[in-house]
Amino acid sequence: MNHPFALFERLQSPVWVFDIHHKKIIWANKASLPLWEASTADELLSRDLGADMSAAVNAILEGYQQRFNNGEAIKTWWYFTPNDILKKALCHFSGIPLADGRVAMLVEVVAEESSLRRELAFSGCSNLALLFSERGDLISANNAFSHSFGFRLQDLANFLGDITLANDWVAEARQNGTIRHKKLCWTGKNHHWFDIDGKWLHDKKQLLLNLVNITLEKEQLHKAKYNAEHDFLTGLLNRRGITNAIIENQHSQLPYSLLFLDIDGFKLVNDTYGHAIGDKLLRAIAIRLQESVKFKGLLARFGGDEFIIQVEHRNIENTTLFAKHIIASLNKPFHLKEVGELSIGCSIGTANYPEDAKDIETLVTQADMAMHRAKLRGRNRSHHFSPDMADALYRKMTLRHHLTLALEADTFELYYQPIVDLKAHKLKGFEALIRWHDEELGQVSPAEFIPLAEETGQIVPLGRWILKTACQQLANWQKKYDQKFIMSVNLSRAQLQSSLAPAIEGLIQQYNIDPAQLALELTESTMLQDYDEAKQCLEDLATLGLELYLDDFGTGYSSLSQLQDLPISTVKLDQSFVQGEHKGSQAIIEATQAICEKLDLKVVAEGVETINQLQYLQNCNFDFCQGYYLGKPMPSYELEERNFSLLNDIPVIH
Ligand code: C2E
Ligand code: MG
Ligand code: MG
Repeated sequence: MNHPFALFERLQSPVWVFDIHHKKIIWANKASLPLWEASTADELLSRDLGADMSAAVNAILEGYQQRFNNGEAIKTWWYFTPNDILKKALCHFSGIPLADGRVAMLVEVVAEESSLRRELAFSGCSNLALLFSERGDLISANNAFSHSFGFRLQDLANFLGDITLANDWVAEARQNGTIRHKKLCWTGKNHHWFDIDGKWLHDKKQLLLNLVNITLEKEQLHKAKYNAEHDFLTGLLNRRGITNAIIENQHSQLPYSLLFLDIDGFKLVNDTYGHAIGDKLLRAIAIRLQESVKFKGLLARFGGDEFIIQVEHRNIENTTLFAKHIIASLNKPFHLKEVGELSIGCSIGTANYPEDAKDIETLVTQADMAMHRAKLRGRNRSHHFSPDMADALYRKMTLRHHLTLALEADTFELYYQPIVDLKAHKLKGFEALIRWHDEELGQVSPAEFIPLAEETGQIVPLGRWILKTACQQLANWQKKYDQKFIMSVNLSRAQLQSSLAPAIEGLIQQYNIDPAQLALELTESTMLQDYDEAKQCLEDLATLGLELYLDDFGTGYSSLSQLQDLPISTVKLDQSFVQGEHKGSQAIIEATQAICEKLDLKVVAEGVETINQLQYLQNCNFDFCQGYYLGKPMPSYELEERNFSLLNDIPVIH
């Protein structure tokens, strides 16, 4: 016989036709028999499936019937309990016309749970359903719900955890016919997130809730959010996390401070002990910071060795004290198994909400600027933001840009300041000092742009130009005046490379200069940084026959004995002493002269501006002097115009 559904017989997957009205299967293919635990098709067709069908399932099926009548199809997970064995399958439900004109339900099994990964068990389309009375009492839960969560759920208020909300939902469903919510609900066993699709059954005055368990999705979302907002290394909030947390909190509008903290010299730890130890130390720092911050505010790792702290003012006495406390806590030694004890410092910049800025991005930038100021002021301290820092940063960025342009256009000049031999009553030589006139910025002091060029590395090409120009000038004057002037040139740390001595040797040969006529000025910090490397370089220079001057003596912290190892011939006493800016300036001037005499070092006094200062230095038996009183730095043509006649007015004391 040619059965109307024989067409489906050949399908590999289970297929059957269900008469919703009579709650009976009216046709099934062979593949569906194992799923239904049926030995023959006839046995399956004889089953009364309505007997233990819950009211919830009944209501769902009636809903389906209407949708099939409208030509719709549904794909969902469905639970079966043939012979009390729970089975679950992803089914495709659609309408199929019967000979009598009614529409039955054609069920095709797309996949059985056993053939799919376990995670899918709660994915998208589980057909959990609950049916509530108008008063919110639970009338029925479908098998899927009871199987997952048991039978303890009593009513809608219980499910939603709120009686008012339960009443609202019933009212909303009654009025609109449907409701849709995503909510964390109590199942009678535990809490789960559900995507809830509710339908009001007008004839029965009941609320049918179709639930999709979205807990896993929510958890994954939560996990993804957690990962995006936390630092992998320390577990602290990261930059995005603290920003979000502060923005979420800002509705309270309470004044707070933002602290930007940077570990001093952390690179050194990484370079010395390796990154694994660096990471370990960062974790230990994070723990210590957390102890200082806990309950008071938020803490985040901003990146690298930078941390951010946000504290509301009501939780601390004042920001400076709080920063001090944090610095003190980090100053206590850290014990790391692999390397023993490590000591670190940190610099902190602070900015206040709402006085300094109202948005978090600006506050972070301001606190960062203030932190750099704290570093400049000597590190291991805190500094509060002030608007001039923003101006300073802007100036720095502009200078940096113009410096690049100036290097390309070669718009620098060298000025020469006379250095006078007081005893021989004649010109000893000159210090070459760079000058930069920028069309837009005007005259920019080397005290401002040299440190910047050192930061960017531009000092290396600039330094080459300075040396070459000074040597060229020296050779010129040598030819013109036949006098053995000494030209001293300032050097920066970045220039102290092994290639420097050969480069200078090349210049000496090119311009036919006596090496004894060239002097190089270096500050003590330049000489002492990476001491071994610097020492080698200085020795190479001295071997060439050049003189080395120790510049700005008295402003650093080292003693002359520390520098005795280095091939220095001359000390330049910083101008602040000659100008009497320090308590005991005179004592220092006299002591320097005495020590240098003992150590067989020559001394140049810098910054002589008045005749009184000059006379005092002569009294102290100084040999060499430099200063505005004797001559300002000037371009070569100006010196030539004066015919070097600088010494005519110098009083000679006998
Ligand atoms: P410095 O090497 O100690 O140079 C002496 C500075 O004191 C110069 O400032 C000079 O103009 C100034 N000066 C000289 N006599 C007097 C005086 O009687 N009174 C006062 N108030 N100041 C006096 P300048 O030219 O502005 O240079 C500042 C610093 O910039 C220099 O200090 C040096 O460290 C650096 N610098 C200048 N030119 C160069 C250069 O060509 N290369 C490098 N690496 N650094 C340079
Ligand atoms: Mg100098
Ligand atoms: Mg100096």
